[in-house]
Amino acid sequence: MFEHVDAYPGDPILTLNENFQKDPRQEKINLSIGIYFDDDGRLPVMKAVREAEAAMLADLGPKPYLPMAGFAPYRDAVQALVFGDDCATRTEGRIATVQTLGGSGALKIGADFLKRYFPQAQVWVSDPTWENHRFIFERAGFTVNTYPYYDDATGGLKFDAMLSAIDALAPRSIVVLHACCHNPTGVDLNDAQWEQLIAVLQKRELLPFVDMAYQGFGSNLDEDAFAVRELARRNAPMLVANSFSKNFSLYGERCGGLSVLCESAEQAQRVVGQLTSAVRSNYSNPPTHGAKIVTKVLTTPALNQMWRDELAAMCRRIADMRVAIHDRLSRHIGGEALSRYVKQRGMFTYTGLDAGQVDRLREAHGVYILRSGRMCVAGLNARNVGPVADAISKVLVK
Ligand code: PMP
Repeated sequence: MFEHVDAYPGDPILTLNENFQKDPRQEKINLSIGIYFDDDGRLPVMKAVREAEAAMLADLGPKPYLPMAGFAPYRDAVQALVFGDDCATRTEGRIATVQTLGGSGALKIGADFLKRYFPQAQVWVSDPTWENHRFIFERAGFTVNTYPYYDDATGGLKFDAMLSAIDALAPRSIVVLHACCHNPTGVDLNDAQWEQLIAVLQKRELLPFVDMAYQGFGSNLDEDAFAVRELARRNAPMLVANSFSKNFSLYGERCGGLSVLCESAEQAQRVVGQLTSAVRSNYSNPPTHGAKIVTKVLTTPALNQMWRDELAAMCRRIADMRVAIHDRLSRHIGGEALSRYVKQRGMFTYTGLDAGQVDRLREAHGVYILRSGRMCVAGLNARNVGPVADAISKVLVK
C-alpha cells in the first residue's frame, strides 16, 4: 500500500541537532539550532513563567476545549504586544487575531487563508530566508520566489536591489518580511529603509506578511516591532505572524499568534471567521497551557515587568557574546569581515564560512553551525566563546 512513499530526508537544522546529540565528544559545542541558552549553556525557564505556572498549578481546574480562535485574553494580549497598547487600528477593532501553534502555525494558517482568497498571487521571500518559509507556502499551494536581500561581499543588506525587485512585483503579490533579527543572516532594515519599503509596498498594492519570531532580541520589544507598527500607522493591509517560542523560552508549548490588519471592524470579523475555519480544518482548536502562561505574564503588571527585564538581559547577553567573539577572532584575523559579528542582530550571524569550512569546524573541533555558515550566537557563553573563535580561525587559516 505504501510502496510509493519516499523517505523524508529530514529537516537540515533538526537533523544536525540530532547528530550533535549523538556526538560522543565532551567538548562539542552546538551553535546550530535557533535556541537561546543562558551563560551556563542551559535552556532557561524564565522566572516570570515559573511564577505564572506556579499560580496556575495552585488553581487547577477542568480542561475544556479552547474556542477555535483561541483564548480570548491571549488574543488581546498578543495584539497589545505586537501592535502596541495605544494602536488606533486595535481600538477600532480592525485587527483580526487568532491564537496559533507557534510562529510556524501562524504562517501555515495565514498561508491557507491567503491561498483561499488570493489564489492567483505568488509569494516572495528574502534570499536567503528561514527554510521553512518556502516549505510552508509551497505546501499551501503557492509558487515561492525570492527577492535580493543578503550581500555576501559585505555581510550587509542589498537594500537597493531588494527595493527595486519589490517595486516590480504584480499587485497583490505576497511579500514575506522578517520584522527583526533576520533568520538566517542577522541583517535587518533600519527604520529609514523600512519607511522606503513600506511606501513601495503601498504604491504597488502588495500584501506584506511580516514574520516576527524574535521580538525583543534585536533592540527591545517596541523598536523590534517598528515595521509592524509603521505599517499599521499607515493603514497598510498586512498579516503578522508572532511567536513566543524564543522571547518566553516556551518552545515546546507552541505559543504564537496570527493577526490580519483590515480596513474595518466588520471586515476584521469576517477575516477572523475565515482564519477560524482554517484552524478548524487543520487541528480544530489550539492548546491551553502555554496560552494561559503567556496571558498571565502579559496581563499581570509585576510579572510583565519581570519578563521584560529578563528578556532585556537575554538580549544584552547576546550583544555581549557578539563583542566577545569579535574581539577574540580579531586576535587571529583582521579586516572588515569581522564587523558582521557586531553589526548583525538577534540570535544569528552569517559567519561567511563555506560548507567545507563548516564541515571542518564540526569534524576537527566539534563546533556545530549550519552548512550555510549560520551560527546561533545565542548558544555562545563565557566558557565556549574562546574555543569557538579559535576553532573558526583555524579553519579559516587552514
Ligand atoms: N519564523 C522564523 C524566521 C523563525 O526563525 C522561526 C523559528 N525558528 C519561526 C518562524 C517559527 O517559530 P515557532 O518555533 O514558534 O514555530
